[in-house]
Amino acid sequence: MWPVDPEDFVSLTTPPENASRDDAWFFLKTPQGLVCLTEQGIPRPVTGDELRWLDIEIQAEHYLGRFRDRCVYAIEARGTLPEGYSAAGLRDWLGRVEPSVFYLAGRAHQVLDWHKTHRFCGRCGVEMEDHPADRAKLCPSCNLICYPRLSPSIIVLITKGQEMLLARNAQWPTNMFSTLAGFVEPGESIEQTVHREVLEEVGLKVKNLQYLGSQSWPFPNSLMLGFHAEYDSGEIVCQDEEIAEAHWFTPDDMPNIPPKTAISRWLIDDFINQSSGD
Ligand SMILES: [Zn+2]
Repeated sequence: MWPVDPEDFVSLTTPPENASRDDAWFFLKTPQGLVCLTEQGIPRPVTGDELRWLDIEIQAEHYLGRFRDRCVYAIEARGTLPEGYSAAGLRDWLGRVEPSVFYLAGRAHQVLDWHKTHRFCGRCGVEMEDHPADRAKLCPSCNLICYPRLSPSIIVLITKGQEMLLARNAQWPTNMFSTLAGFVEPGESIEQTVHREVLEEVGLKVKNLQYLGSQSWPFPNSLMLGFHAEYDSGEIVCQDEEIAEAHWFTPDDMPNIPPKTAISRWLIDDFINQSSGD
């Protein structure tokens, strides 16, 4: 699950000349969710050929780039879908399609959301225009440029010998334990965020941070940066209203943990594999 082949996708803002729309993929977002056709239980986006026969009103279209030699578009649309088509939230795609297709759906979702929420300049109120070269919006009056919004956050597994610290978030409805996470603040390095979040959430100091990898998490626009960190000092003190409880666990005595689609799980599995000498 960790890596997605970086060569799967080439990000572009304009389609190549003579590009075929017929076999392109269209991530079609309607008020009901992302439109999909289901083949053998696996959802897929609509092709250009299928799109032509749909009785829908297109409100915005963005070219996203090329996915394995296939052009990919994101479309905001309204209308009634014929039989055989369904619309599902992005979360319903998670775990049902291969990871690179999920991240593509997440990309479409985020670009469309950004387009919808950045129609007017935040500084002078004039209607924004598309930037001539980049995926950005440009104010024709005051030249403000707005790029799609991303919210970097850290996610960290704290380890102590064979043990790992997992916490239950006070807001979660289920009895699930996971790694600690938090958003990067302006002016911070991601390493500073790790130290600050760990101290705020469980009152511990950590050392020897090790960056393992990242995950795009489009709910709504996070970029999760994953770390392992070793326990340094302190006693667990849970942050009120944020962390309900936090404990040290060993691989042979684990609580409910997140599914394999989540970076928190990859961090946990990596540590367990390392401890078992894999
Ligand atoms: Zn402006």
